[in-house]
Amino acid sequence: MPVVTVILRVAVPSPLRRLFDYLPPAACATEDLVPGLRVRVPFGQRELIGILIEVADATDIGAGQLKSATEVLDRQPIFSLGLLSLLRWAADYYHTPLGECVAQALPTLLRQGESASSRETHWRLTIAGMALPEGALKRAKQQAHALALLQKQASISTDELKAAGVEAPHLRALAVKGLAERFEIDVEMAAPLKSAHHESPLQLSPEQGAAVAAVTADFDTFRCHLLEGVTGSGKTEVYLHLLAQVIARGEQALVLIPEIGLTPQTLARFQQRLQTPIAVLHSGLSDNERLKAWRLARSGRAGVVLGTRSAVFTAFARLRLIIVDEEHDASYKQQDGFRYSARDIAIKRAADENIPILLGSATPSLETLHNALSGRYRHSPLRERAAGAAQPTLDVIDIRHAPMREGLAPAVVDALASTSQRGDQALVFLNRRGFAPTLICHDCGWIAQCPHCDTRLTVHVGEQRLRCHHCGHVKPLVKTCPDCRSTQLQFRGPGTERLEMVLTALFPQVPVVRIDRDTTQRKHALRDKVATVSAGQPCILVGTQMLAKGHHFPDVTLVVMVDIDGGLFSADLRAPERMGQLLTQVAGRAGRAEKSGRVLIQTHYPDHPLITGLVRDGYHAFACRLLDERRISGAPPFGFFALVRADARSLTEAEQLLAEFRQAVTTQAGVQALGPLPAPLSRRAGMYRAQLLLTAMQRAALHRALHKIVEHAEREPLARRVKWSIDVDPVDFS
Ligand code: ADP
Ligand code: ZN
Ligand code: ZN
Repeated sequence: MPVVTVILRVAVPSPLRRLFDYLPPAACATEDLVPGLRVRVPFGQRELIGILIEVADATDIGAGQLKSATEVLDRQPIFSLGLLSLLRWAADYYHTPLGECVAQALPTLLRQGESASSRETHWRLTIAGMALPEGALKRAKQQAHALALLQKQASISTDELKAAGVEAPHLRALAVKGLAERFEIDVEMAAPLKSAHHESPLQLSPEQGAAVAAVTADFDTFRCHLLEGVTGSGKTEVYLHLLAQVIARGEQALVLIPEIGLTPQTLARFQQRLQTPIAVLHSGLSDNERLKAWRLARSGRAGVVLGTRSAVFTAFARLRLIIVDEEHDASYKQQDGFRYSARDIAIKRAADENIPILLGSATPSLETLHNALSGRYRHSPLRERAAGAAQPTLDVIDIRHAPMREGLAPAVVDALASTSQRGDQALVFLNRRGFAPTLICHDCGWIAQCPHCDTRLTVHVGEQRLRCHHCGHVKPLVKTCPDCRSTQLQFRGPGTERLEMVLTALFPQVPVVRIDRDTTQRKHALRDKVATVSAGQPCILVGTQMLAKGHHFPDVTLVVMVDIDGGLFSADLRAPERMGQLLTQVAGRAGRAEKSGRVLIQTHYPDHPLITGLVRDGYHAFACRLLDERRISGAPPFGFFALVRADARSLTEAEQLLAEFRQAVTTQAGVQALGPLPAPLSRRAGMYRAQLLLTAMQRAALHRALHKIVEHAEREPLARRVKWSIDVDPVDFS
């Protein structure tokens, strides 16, 4: 009789784009081996944790060379078949090794082999143990320590005990004496509701009601919905109504938010309105917190998972709805390694699971808008601000020939003065942190450059340093020119640090609050600053795009956009779209409550069609015009792009590899290649960077070309020395 072989095909975290074959571990019931389990396998000199993808009955590997897996880590698959097939799809689509995709989809601790089950071992005192007085067991120091801890609490987890210095042998000793016992609890079942008193929902406006009804009508089918609502129109209110319905059905929902979009206020609003534990997943969590949230979702205990990008891969017990808030936000796209778009994966996931997905934004991306206009997505507009608040008015300030005061036009200074006299708040927006973007020698023209990047160093006056915003290089602020010894060094251009100083000098009676990456490093700094502003006292806020996300500043009645001209002439395809989104989002911070708001836009190009269009017709019309331009040029969403990047010690090497790649796809019909060209930032952190842009009118043709490139790279020795990557649907062209 032939022996039936069982071969485990495993995805391991390695840059190789294939599965690896292993024999099952010795003494392992083969019928328990199903896809989605974690397995520990020997890999080169190391051991790695991989995911079992397939169980096969044959392999190409010679019998002598086939190794056995060391251990199967789970009893239940950690990925459902649905999630596994989503990951396989994503690995294909983004041309990324499956092992890397799988690793990204797991919390770090699970990747390291931690148990996926939500059961935790705890210790508690027995009745005999409880009878002991404080300070008992003096002769066994460690046991006395453990006892003292257990006397303080009903039970303590083994991990916590270990962290407090109590080791297993001492606990066992207590158990042998009959003083303490171990038991298992289900951590998730113990997850408390965060808020005891619940708020009742608001009465929806007719447009909000229609949006809710449209999605609930699709609860049992896949459909993509766009909720296009101006800032403050009540999109969050729509989400809350939908989530309440999902929870009432005993099911779960996933809510994706941008990287820094989750404010304590938003979370509190969710907790007060929803009668379910909410699992929060974002980059600020510890590994343990992340794992806890993941378990809470998988066990079905959390009705809502609220998370940033990677939360799109969370395992659920009963997923019924996905919401992507601020769907246009660039932080949904991962910029290194597995370069996925969480929004696009969310749509694919909803399709696979046959559930509805709601994309919300005041400034939808052109892709999404195109799908809504063409009828592929259902479009629910919210045209009015909720509760009767007025839309802000936009005014363009022509700064040509204007006698500027430190970068601010007279009209802007006047408006700031009258705003603070009225006791209102103002917001001054500039997307550049630091004091000045350039340090120049007035006598010889020397400019402070980053030694590792093709870029200038930014002056930070407060800390007396020069910083590279691309690689993090730091050096002391020089007082004399290194070339000519002159002391005539000048700071050129505005930064938020400088604006803060200028505004403090201009308006000494008004507090100036700066919000950017430099002033919010300290834990809770952002929260504290936002709280100061929310208290409603007059102030002037200065900040970068951190201000444009998530926060509501109801007492702000004036918004100043200091410098938007950069977005008008950038070579970056998406620059106009991004400028329109940013301007609209920042403007939307103004006058959200009873007070109406005014937005002043400083520009040297008051007649530029992008500006006049945006100001006169609003974002939607502006975006439709950009769509027309894209249609003509065949740019996304009408055509499809992929960017192949190479980073090397020399530009020649980087370009040489890309030239080889280009050669590999010359015969590919329907694909155009542009490049190799140096990247806009042609050197970063000492590496030279080049790009090859592939464009096609059909996705399939593009993917065939990318396949050829991957195949070529696996044979090409240069591809082992040069760091290269593929970025499908790129959003960042730098
Ligand atoms: P968005 O998410 O679109 O920015 P929000 O949902 O945060 O808007 O709503 C903005 C403000 O309007 C909030 O203070 C919210 O409580 C209020 N609001 C929303 N919907 C309603 C409604 N139907 N009735 C009364 N107030 C509402
Ligand atoms: Zn000089
Ligand atoms: Zn640098």
